[in-house]
Amino acid sequence: MQTQSKNTLDTSVTQFKYKLNSSLRKKEITVLQINLGKRCNLACSHCHVEASPKRTEELSAEICEQLISLIHKFPEIKIVDLTGGAPEMNYGFKALVEAGKSTGKQVIVRSNLTIYFENGFGDLPEYFAKHQLRIVASLPCYLSDNVDKMRGTGVFDSSIKALQWLNKLGYGKEPNLILDLVFNPQLPTGKNFSLAPEQSNLEQDYKKFLQEHFNIVFNNLFTITNLPVGRTKIHLERRKLYTSYLQFLESHFNPSTIEHLMCRDELSIDYLGNVYDCDFNQMMNLPAQTRNGEILTVAKLLEAGSLDLISEVQTAAYCYGCTAGWGSSCGGALL
Ligand code: SF4
Ligand code: SF4
Repeated sequence: MQTQSKNTLDTSVTQFKYKLNSSLRKKEITVLQINLGKRCNLACSHCHVEASPKRTEELSAEICEQLISLIHKFPEIKIVDLTGGAPEMNYGFKALVEAGKSTGKQVIVRSNLTIYFENGFGDLPEYFAKHQLRIVASLPCYLSDNVDKMRGTGVFDSSIKALQWLNKLGYGKEPNLILDLVFNPQLPTGKNFSLAPEQSNLEQDYKKFLQEHFNIVFNNLFTITNLPVGRTKIHLERRKLYTSYLQFLESHFNPSTIEHLMCRDELSIDYLGNVYDCDFNQMMNLPAQTRNGEILTVAKLLEAGSLDLISEVQTAAYCYGCTAGWGSSCGGALL
């Protein structure tokens, strides 16, 4: 009888923790990433949050107040990173922006760009500029067909209009108005997997194309690998590609990425106030744990008066997505 080796997930994918020479230790926390909820005006095919206009889960007033206290209490938090869903659609967005800015932190909004054209959200670009938010905007390709295939018909044209609007306000041009774009590879339909192209080369291609065709400028391009989580996982499973995609990612494992993983210095918070090591663990219900194995919440961090309660990052097979090739994080390639 064949027995399964203790260090394999199934017969073919090595458990991530066995790839590491030691446990993945947390460093000092400097980034607070808040996922405000699952409400979004789009429903992209690769969305790891499975967000859509039909979702209703969002921050409550109580958790928002706790987060504002957390932002005020801990000067070691240098960056408040607001995500979703479309963070702008979810409860508490502006209150969290203003808490972050009033305490001198960098505030990032992960924006899908198209939200500015929905009823009630037309003030956002001016609001972002007034508060000098750093915008990290999805534009998974500079070609219209590829973007519309992933994100929905008309999304490319709206994104272009939004970028031109942001440029008019000084985004991508003035030093305090940073506009970054995000590239995601197309979802695979067969075993023709590939990692994102080298980030700085692709950035040059994006810059050239967007400038020449639409007179758009931006600061940085972030390449982000599709982790097999959320809709990407469902897509792969439907095509029976899930295990082979993990094998592909594992075959490109690069140990040099480990030192730079975003989960080392961030806390990721969900709309219920639970704490995770990253947004992917959040979506896969893998909560952060204290040294005693206790599950953490924002209320517990406030009560303890410390952010330094987690010793080891929780890992899973999808961590191969962050550690393949040049690595991947919410800030793009790691190397
Ligand atoms: S990928 Fe972003 S824009 Fe698309 S559905 Fe998910 S949260 Fe919304
Ligand atoms: S998915 Fe990536 S960021 Fe999250 S715990 Fe794994 S390696 Fe870290």
